[in-house]
Amino acid sequence: MQQPTGRRDELPAAPSETIPYGRQAIGPDDIAAVVDALTSDYLTQGPRVPQFEEALSAATTAPFAVAANSATSALHLACLALGTGPGDLVWTSPVSFVASANCARYCGADVDFVDIEPDTFNMAPEALAEKLEAAARIGRLPKLVIPVHMGGQSCRMDAIGALAKRYGFHVVEDASHALGGSYANRPVGAGAHSDITVFSFHPVKIVTTAEGGAATTADPALAAKLALLRSHGITRDPALMEGEPDGVWAYEQVDLGWNYRMTELQAALGLSQMRRLGQFVDRRNALADRYDRLLSDLPLDLPARQAETRSSFHLYIVRLREAETGGGRRAVFDALRRRGIGVNVHYIPIYRQPYYRRLGFRAGHCPQAERYYDRAISIPLYHGMTEAQQDRVVAALREVLS
Ligand SMILES: *Cc1c(COP(=O)(O)O)cnc(C)c1O
Repeated sequence: MQQPTGRRDELPAAPSETIPYGRQAIGPDDIAAVVDALTSDYLTQGPRVPQFEEALSAATTAPFAVAANSATSALHLACLALGTGPGDLVWTSPVSFVASANCARYCGADVDFVDIEPDTFNMAPEALAEKLEAAARIGRLPKLVIPVHMGGQSCRMDAIGALAKRYGFHVVEDASHALGGSYANRPVGAGAHSDITVFSFHPVKIVTTAEGGAATTADPALAAKLALLRSHGITRDPALMEGEPDGVWAYEQVDLGWNYRMTELQAALGLSQMRRLGQFVDRRNALADRYDRLLSDLPLDLPARQAETRSSFHLYIVRLREAETGGGRRAVFDALRRRGIGVNVHYIPIYRQPYYRRLGFRAGHCPQAERYYDRAISIPLYHGMTEAQQDRVVAALREVLS
């Protein structure tokens, strides 16, 4: 599975045995689990979604998990559950997938971007502190900040959490990349420094349900709200109803919700995949360690490992050192694609997208994000990658950069 970064016909033709940048790992158990769900009584709203949610709770140590049909939906639900609406301000990282910002726009909120740390590509707590100070002076503080655990390495959540307490904003972690990672000896999603954490199960991510996402939280009221809004705002729980139920068939729509439910087929796949979460993350880390060794003498900046974190290594991102790369990133990227290496770029700073430009953002809004974007290339990393395939990636990089 590759997410194209541009129109396919603009990319250089690649040899047929291209090594993708990411790929799902589907085993016989996964297939059996989905077939089992397909022949069961429930294709949706059955027992497997709650079982998958329990598996997510167990893996993250979060008391509550609410599955949804995508991380994008889960981010929207998270913003809604925290009361985000028109007139509110939401800040996120510019180096992320557009969904990290779009979720606020769905709620009618205004969006702004906090610059990144140059070595982890995560929202910089220092930049956040500076921006908050300026925002406090003009009385326009954010209601919600959405840090993104870029590539699978957690942001410095203690610093971000401390700022949240001081300035009174909510925090939603976009952990779409980071299932199975840890921060300060706790799994990402435990939520020690945030209200809600969101995960994605798109096929390139750590664990897949084809399409799918989830939100974890330690707050029972938020969990109930997420679950209510996921399914039309309808409840069958008499305790939550405003009137006396007419009978056991009674349901009440007590809020305006959506249909963001995950199917039983997706949950069956996710539940089966979750049994291998540890294996997935260990393998990705072993391959990342091997890249660190094999690429150490090339003119590249390799991903920085931050103390206190263990990355799940959704992505392995190298940065070119301008001086050594005559043609620049574009030439290196194209040369790698021609050699059958399915490189990609994560991400174009969100504010550069035409939709956001129309809202008034300009290129250069976040200088560190720009500098990162000019130099970054994601190279292949996935659970089923062999060392021989990895050696091919390394050889191609060596050839192109020499
Ligand atoms: C993949 C991704 C999303 C969206 O996930 P979907 O499940 O495809 O909706 C959101 N944020 C980040 C950082 C992502 O990488």
